[in-house]
Amino acid sequence: MFDKILIANRGEIALRVIRACREMGIASVAVHSTADADAMHVRMADESVCIGPPPSASSYLSMPAIISACEITGAQAIHPGYGFLSENATFVQMVEDHGLTFIGPRAEHIRIMGDKITAKETAAQLGIPVVPGSEGGVADVETARQVAAGIGYPVIIKATAGGGGRGMKVAHDDGALEVAFRTARTEAKAAFGNPDVYIEKYLQKPRHIEIQVFGDGRGRAVHLGERDCSLQRRHQKVLEEAPGPAITAEERARIGKVCADAMAQLGYAGAGTIEFLYEDGEFYFIEMNTRLQVEHPVTEAIFGVDLVREQICVAAGNEMTLRQEDLSIRGHAIEVRINAERVPDFAPCPGRVTQYHAPGGLGVRVDSAIYDGYSIPPYYDSLIGKLIVHGRDRPEALARLNRALSELIVDGVDTTVPLFRELLKDPDIQSGNYSIHWLERWLERHYR
Ligand code: ADP
Repeated sequence: MFDKILIANRGEIALRVIRACREMGIASVAVHSTADADAMHVRMADESVCIGPPPSASSYLSMPAIISACEITGAQAIHPGYGFLSENATFVQMVEDHGLTFIGPRAEHIRIMGDKITAKETAAQLGIPVVPGSEGGVADVETARQVAAGIGYPVIIKATAGGGGRGMKVAHDDGALEVAFRTARTEAKAAFGNPDVYIEKYLQKPRHIEIQVFGDGRGRAVHLGERDCSLQRRHQKVLEEAPGPAITAEERARIGKVCADAMAQLGYAGAGTIEFLYEDGEFYFIEMNTRLQVEHPVTEAIFGVDLVREQICVAAGNEMTLRQEDLSIRGHAIEVRINAERVPDFAPCPGRVTQYHAPGGLGVRVDSAIYDGYSIPPYYDSLIGKLIVHGRDRPEALARLNRALSELIVDGVDTTVPLFRELLKDPDIQSGNYSIHWLERWLERHYR
């Protein structure tokens, strides 16, 4: 086992990894930009290293600075968290070339899944059902027309290098295709430096269902059920729950096995998430994330598994302790993302937190790195915390979420907390009856 791990991240996820390290008796090293000198992850880690100025490109994304921090502190392994360098195959290679361990999958698997076309092809080869669409990239409008006519409108044009819900355009008919196609390419070029796009059937009212997988890198893999992340704004997740209210035990077992078998065949190591759109009882692969997800705690809650501990164990070369036959679901969990954003326009709202009180009690988990007097820097993601509740069933989890939200105090900055208080009153949320478009429509109705 490692003696010391460096966490190449900040905020709540850095704290999350530090917690696992401490329980395992492993020393932790925090890295931080000059803007994060007073951050909680720096205070909580056993050691810390300043790796650069505020912009992520010169700090949290600086590969040489992070490798040097390992060398200075003697850390043997790097946990990347999510975002930043977590899905950067070049970084993984560099880490390994320096004799260090990357806590995550092999560079090769990150590369395959990082390119959406290769990912889709690989998924299909591994027996995972995919969304009908173009075979590979689409280079010109004429080909786009033929593909769209073949699969039928509406279609969605997506950036091959896409991520974070950007670079996607929907065309409802042939007349709208050309503009959508050209706009998608221009946006893809601007956002990702790569104009390549592909085309898929646009599903009208799907749910976003993702399967948590975990592999030992040596041909054994398990699944830990699904998360329903359909509540999205601009393709960004807002609330996540597990198990999915619309998924039956049979469907879970079926798609879970397909995913676990695929990962076993791939020799995948560590935690991963296979994302699907789900409509009328069918699952359609959209992408795979080769890292820990923001919403991993809902899975941890219902399975009673510490996913970060498992990641560290597998990376250290230990036997994977997870066995499919031991993995069973207990109750229901819901996570809400607390962002420092003003509702309803969701403008980022950095600034000083004048008062903070976290809820507690049975079945409540708060993953956050804020504190009284903390200044949220303007340079990074606006996620400042996650509130996760666990109950014996969905109604109990909802009641608990409502109760926990009533206890939560974050003063000094605007947050998305009032949004959740409102959302919980809606009968569709209470019944679990929502698709990926539900929240956008609700926001329009509610805040018009
Ligand atoms: P990203 O990597 O940018 O997050 P994804 O491929 O995961 O892109 O898609 C993000 C979101 O976009 C999905 O959760 C869904 O809301 C929407 N989406 C993607 N593909 C389709 C599709 N074929 N039909 C309908 N909605 C889609």
